[in-house]
Amino acid sequence: MDKRRRMGPGKTNDQVSKRAWRVRVTVPRSYVPWASSDAIHKTMQQCRDGRTAPEVALRSNLHRRGMRFRVTARPVLDFRRTADILFPRRRVAVFLDGCFWHGCPDHFTPPQTNVQYWTSKIQYNRLRDATTNQRLRDHGWLVVRVWEHEDTEAAADRIAVLVSARGIMTCRP
Ligand SMILES: [Zn+2]
Repeated sequence: MDKRRRMGPGKTNDQVSKRAWRVRVTVPRSYVPWASSDAIHKTMQQCRDGRTAPEVALRSNLHRRGMRFRVTARPVLDFRRTADILFPRRRVAVFLDGCFWHGCPDHFTPPQTNVQYWTSKIQYNRLRDATTNQRLRDHGWLVVRVWEHEDTEAAADRIAVLVSARGIMTCRP
């Protein structure tokens, strides 16, 4: 008979509190509709991982062209927005927008369930993108938005042209 069993069916305070904590954190937050289809679930998963296949492809394409940049960085320190690819000396900020989360005009369709929730969420995201663009422009940044569905080579061409046309910025905001 091991030590724990000898203590009887009751649990120590420590065990009880650990268990209580575990239960508390796993309670589903019912006000947030969870992924109602495999497609959405996959999108959410990718979002959490922070790296999507198009993102990786675009970065390596730019890298192959000899372009050097920062990844997942804030263009403006006191503005809590993170660009996916950043060219600090040229002050070019690239955002790779997922077709679902950013409401792509060609590919966004609200999921079958919780239509209202998703539609307003995506509308909010679009508004947020517009605010981000404006704020960064105000700070002298060139904002480039690339859709997830865009051809990697074409997107990289576009970025390369814009970056080289910018020249090196000598004064920082
Ligand atoms: Zn799209």
